[in-house]
Amino acid sequence: MRVSRLMLVTLRDTPSDAEIASHQLLARGGFIRRVASGIYAYMPLMSRVLQKITSIVQQEMNSAGALQTLLPQLHPAEIWERSGRWQEYTAGEGLMFNLKDRQGRNLGLGPTHEEVITTLAGEILHSYRQLPVNLYQIQTKFRDEIRPRFGLMRSREFIMKDAYSFHATEEGLKSTYSDMDATYKQIFDRCGIKTVAVEADSGSIGGAASQEFMVTAETGEDLILKSSDGIYAANQEKAISVAPPPKPSKERTPFSFDTPNQENINSLCVKQELFPSQILKVILMIALLENNVEQPILVCIRGDQELNEVKLVNILSKELNKKILDISIITDEALKDQDLSDLPFGSIGPDLADLVLANSRSWNKYFHRVVDHTALEMENFVCGSNQEDRHLGGMNWTNFEGTFKGVDIRKAKAGDRCIHDENQKLEEQRGIEVGHIFQLGRKYSKALQTNFTNEKGIQEPFWMGCYGIGISRLAQAAVEQNHDDSGITWPISIAPFEVIIVIANMKDNHQVKLGEKIYSELKTKGIDALLDDRSERAGVKFKDADLIGIPWRIVVGRDAASGQIELVERSNKQIISTNTEAALTKLLTEIFDKRR
Ligand code: ATP
Ligand code: MG
Repeated sequence: MRVSRLMLVTLRDTPSDAEIASHQLLARGGFIRRVASGIYAYMPLMSRVLQKITSIVQQEMNSAGALQTLLPQLHPAEIWERSGRWQEYTAGEGLMFNLKDRQGRNLGLGPTHEEVITTLAGEILHSYRQLPVNLYQIQTKFRDEIRPRFGLMRSREFIMKDAYSFHATEEGLKSTYSDMDATYKQIFDRCGIKTVAVEADSGSIGGAASQEFMVTAETGEDLILKSSDGIYAANQEKAISVAPPPKPSKERTPFSFDTPNQENINSLCVKQELFPSQILKVILMIALLENNVEQPILVCIRGDQELNEVKLVNILSKELNKKILDISIITDEALKDQDLSDLPFGSIGPDLADLVLANSRSWNKYFHRVVDHTALEMENFVCGSNQEDRHLGGMNWTNFEGTFKGVDIRKAKAGDRCIHDENQKLEEQRGIEVGHIFQLGRKYSKALQTNFTNEKGIQEPFWMGCYGIGISRLAQAAVEQNHDDSGITWPISIAPFEVIIVIANMKDNHQVKLGEKIYSELKTKGIDALLDDRSERAGVKFKDADLIGIPWRIVVGRDAASGQIELVERSNKQIISTNTEAALTKLLTEIFDKRR
């Protein structure tokens, strides 16, 4: 390919919406162009990068025995209604773009493909003899992200590799899951990116085990917690740890005391000489359930700990046996909207009576109460009295009516001790999720009533797994991990071209001739070569070459007549001046060596 024919437009200035380096560099290098919010065109250079990633993914998935397929992007609402996800994915802040056809039938644009593939599997796979099967596709997904940002990292239209496996037994599922784990490591390794595998929350897709693959980068949206010995790593959404021990309290008998203007843990601690771990924190929330019921929630947690909303939502959906569509803190305005009286926020206790909800307009008239382990383990604690500006001290759970069960709804944090070894501490790192593997279990096969006949001749639902890689996100994450002040430093396996030949002066016949000769020789050898044949100044061409990040650069300049050229390695900017033959020998060795 010749740069003169590449439609290359590089930008000197950074587009104003590009906040992180990878987005800025891809936009400036002419790789992507924004068409609308969260919607990008992949320009020719980008298209080549995506193609290279795609072919690595295909090779590795194929060699793991998966079958490539291509599923429709338009999904009939019925199959999403049968799995029970239509409302969750389309109502309120639902992710799924949806539309009506001219007959008035509802359709959704595929954000993920469990419904389509499971329905198909149910029609085609009838016997355990046909199992296991692992099907994958590489295709555009649509998600109406509430905050599309960072270019291809969180876009509304993006390319994903998604795979779905079907098994007769749970052991079969586990074995494919672990094959996919190994395949993913191989894929990311071949793409030249460094990833960490972490335990992950299964989210609304549900199921048992799940693991995310994170590209470590300071700008990552996810927080990873890792033990210092490297044995444990998890997304903060999922991470567990041992809470620090609380400060012991001496007061053993209940008493009450005035706490004017002490409406938060901090001010209470300062004025009363307390530690946050001696105070019970009560948080009131309102959850919107899938059947549109609004359920008030009363959460108790130790005062020095933070609530993990993902864990809370998971616990609630299990305890209430309903999906949680939304959850938010109860505010004064929310109470007013419900025609309820004010509550003494800041001095609410765990025994706040359901009666306060009696006149609500649309909320359930009782609290669903959830107590974190750290709260339940507290002794002689301080908590609100349910009266304005008054707290209770020397309290124990036996002072309250009813029985309480502890659950884990606490945010694990850097510095916490690890569960597997209390001498190990959690450390934090930011990451970009590029892949995710799940053991779905029988959630979808049960919901969609897709069965096979097992060895004993009995019908049962399939065991399923699913495995995603964000192809377009990965491409950008690779840039986030591989760039310097002058531009991108693509790993060679996914670079748009392996080498760029820059003819310094197009008016010099020796230079043009030698440049063309090298270009055609490299192409004959099967190298992805780009020839910068523009009549621009050499400086401009060098800058562009640095920006678009081609791993090797050959500069054909003043010494072309004597066959002397420069070979420059982009990643470390090392320059070797040598004769053409020696330069090409070194280049070919380096490139073929990396391709293995
Ligand atoms: P996230 O937590 O980042 O929203 P997710 O967990 O919803 O992602 P999955 O359903 O696991 O995403 O999708 C598989 C992969 O698709 C992700 O690991 C990620 O690499 C990619 N992906 C998901 N959402 C987007 C998006 N909006 N833009 C680009 N890539 C995405
Ligand atoms: Mg995910």
